[in-house]
Formats: sequence, structure tokens, C-alpha cells
Amino acid sequence: MRKYFELLYKKSVEDFYKDVENNLKKKKKTFIVTANPETFSFGKKDKEIDKILLDKENVIVPDGVAIVAVAKMHGFKVKERITGIDLANKLLVLCNENGYKLALLGAKQEVLEALENKIKNNYQNIKLVKTKNGYEEGKDKFFEELVKLEPDVCLVALGIPAQEKLIYKHLNKFKKGIFVGVGGSFDVMSGAKKRAPKFFQKTYTEWLYRITTEPKRIGRFFKSNVTFMFKTLILK
Ligand code: UDP
Repeated sequence: MRKYFELLYKKSVEDFYKDVENNLKKKKKTFIVTANPETFSFGKKDKEIDKILLDKENVIVPDGVAIVAVAKMHGFKVKERITGIDLANKLLVLCNENGYKLALLGAKQEVLEALENKIKNNYQNIKLVKTKNGYEEGKDKFFEELVKLEPDVCLVALGIPAQEKLIYKHLNKFKKGIFVGVGGSFDVMSGAKKRAPKFFQKTYTEWLYRITTEPKRIGRFFKSNVTFMFKTLILK
């Protein structure tokens, strides 16, 4: 797991957004992985995720508070959290400012439609080139058809590890574009779910808010986080 930490993005969130903006301008293809303990735990048991986390072309940013804490504990100069939801919102702003092409894949049909409406009303310069909900067949076909549309940004909200695997599988077909797996972000961006209130965000306890408002997450949360904590005490 040490290698994952070594390869983490080390600069501030402000610098990261500048890098993303530059890559968009230069049309530099970029796959961004927003990492939490679950991501790294998957890396240890799933070869594809391991490969994605070790591929130096990919940008792995520390999303989870535990990733930042463990990185600092072991002396890696990681600056701060860079969350998927903030990145997704920032990408909408950048797309709107520059009239960029956006593609969305994932979440329930009603969530996706609500997000599409929000984009049409609030980000009128965005060119929404292709969308698809995350519960239908044909996700590979979505990507194959997307290639010729040359999106500037593609957000995939299927949860880890499906979203990362799908992006990585098709990435080499694209010449440009920022690709990000954004987990449950469409639910929040569309207004279907609330993000944790500011108090939880500031005290780095958004995870606590999520498991108390969605108790079915408790099992998954403890499984991945306990594994992570044990594996990171002695970082090999
Ligand atoms: N999802 C989907 N298809 C599936 C399973 C999940 O589109 O087959 C969506 C789900 O609706 C949600 C997102 O994927 O919007 C994953 O959310 P979750 O909160 O589990 O992800 P996390 O942020 O915890 O990685």
C-alpha cells in the first residue's frame, strides 16, 4: 500500500484545480481517481484497481480524510483533501465558462434527469453531449459512441470499483478529456440527496453523517476502513 501513498497528488486543492484547468485547455487526457480507504483496500484485492492506482499517467487525489491522515502520519507531503463532489462541481463551472462538452454516466434515471435539468438551467453554456443512467445495459456502448463526440469532461457515477474500471477500459480510445469517477455525487448535485452539513465537512466527519443517514453503509464502511487501518499501521 505504500506505493499508493507515494503516488498520491501532493499539492493543494487550488493548485489541483489549476492543473485541471490547464489540462482542459491543452486537451491533455487525464483520468482522476478520488481515493478513499475503500479505493486503496480494493487495490489490494483487485488487480485492475491495483494497476489503475499504480499507473503514473493517472492522477490519484486524496478524497478521504483517513487517506490524508495516514499519509501525513507516514511522512508523505500530502497537502489536503480533494473531494470528488467539489471536483465535479468545479468541472461544471469550468465547462460552463468555456462552453466545453460534458458527458454523464451513472445514477438513477430520475437523478440523472434532475441533474440534466439543473445543468440546462444553471450552466447554459455547457454542451451536454451524452448521458445515460447507471442501471441499464450498454455502458461499454456508451463509451464507444462517446469517442467520436470528443467530450472535454466525462463524469461517471457508478461507485467504486465499477466506475474506475469502466473508464480505464475505454480510456485509450480517447484523444482528450478529463475522466472522473464521482461515486454518489450525482445524487447530491441533482438535489436528490443532501451533502453533509458544513459542520461535518469542517470537522472531517462527513463519513459519520453518511453512515448515520444511510445505515446500510455501516457494514461496508467498517469492512474497508478497518482493513485499511490495519494495513496502514505498518505501511508496506
Ligand atoms: N449506481 C449506478 N448503478 C449501479 C450502482 C450504483 O448508477 O449499478 C450509482 C448510484 O445510484 C449512486 C452511485 O452509483 O449514484 C454510487 O454511489 P455511492 O454513494 O455508493 O458511491 P460512493 O460515493 O460511496 O463511492
